Amino acid sequence: EKSTAFFDTFERKPSLQKTTHYCPGCGHGTLNKIIADQVAELGIQDRTIYVGPVGCGVFIYYYFEGACASAAHGRASAVATGISRANPDAITVSYQGDGDLAAIGTSNAIHAANRGENMIVFFVNNNIYGMTGGQLAPTTLIDQTSTTSPTGRTVKNDGFPLQMAEMIAGLEAPTLVARVGVNNPKNIRQAIKVIKRGLEIQRDKKGYAFIEVLSQCPTNWKKNPVEACEWIDEVVSKQYPFGVFKDIADEGEAVERPCERVEFAAVAEQLGLVDKVDKGDQQIEMPRDEMRFKFAGFGGQGILSL
Ligand code: SF4
Ligand code: MG
Repeated sequence: EKSTAFFDTFERKPSLQKTTHYCPGCGHGTLNKIIADQVAELGIQDRTIYVGPVGCGVFIYYYFEGACASAAHGRASAVATGISRANPDAITVSYQGDGDLAAIGTSNAIHAANRGENMIVFFVNNNIYGMTGGQLAPTTLIDQTSTTSPTGRTVKNDGFPLQMAEMIAGLEAPTLVARVGVNNPKNIRQAIKVIKRGLEIQRDKKGYAFIEVLSQCPTNWKKNPVEACEWIDEVVSKQYPFGVFKDIADEGEAVERPCERVEFAAVAEQLGLVDKVDKGDQQIEMPRDEMRFKFAGFGGQGILSL
């Protein structure tokens, strides 16, 4: 008998009946598919929680059939920290662009990495602010033009492009740090392997994984999709080299992280954000469909109390 799950999903999420909101040739769609495929292959779909950012990844909750939370700009790693600690059995995914993670959210991202939180972070780097119209980002390449740097980025005015993967690989706590691409079949094959590895680390509770994904943004790079994919190999990856910079998952024991359910539950109850707090084992419960909205409100205040 055929499963109706696929059609049920469509019924519940009418947005899935349309094409995605991504521009033609954008790297986000390919990355979404790789993540979803690997989550399905590992059989972890029912315990994966995605945290979405502000930016072109803002609508990831339309594309992943799982629990989703939305975070304020730059706060996805902080919201994911709360979710991960409050739900130790969950696989927590933070999905953030460069205008989010490498700009307003740098502190949140670095400190989550430095604590070695049990989460996987997908850092989608297209070296520009995509959703807001192609402004210069901390990751914009030297000499790259943008709507706010029409003559090209200079070190004198804007500093060097932030190399987040290298910075995070320099920290003690992270388990896996890598940079991959989704611009051609060869890079996609490597991306699949690394993403699977990162999700396995989450499944096995072995700490923090950071995967930077060089992602093409044809719209704001003012290139057609083919040119944009080629530009990643010819130019972008020279500044941001591909590679696995750190992988210590097989060395020693999994990093023990504190679980602060007590404070989380107490604060959530106080703010009226949960439907039920079981004081016996400090579990919290809420309807799955509402999780996104409740955590969205929770991100700004509650998580800070952890
Ligand atoms: Fe993708 Fe760029 Fe379009 Fe955003 S603006 S959806 S990053 S191509
Ligand atoms: Mg961007």
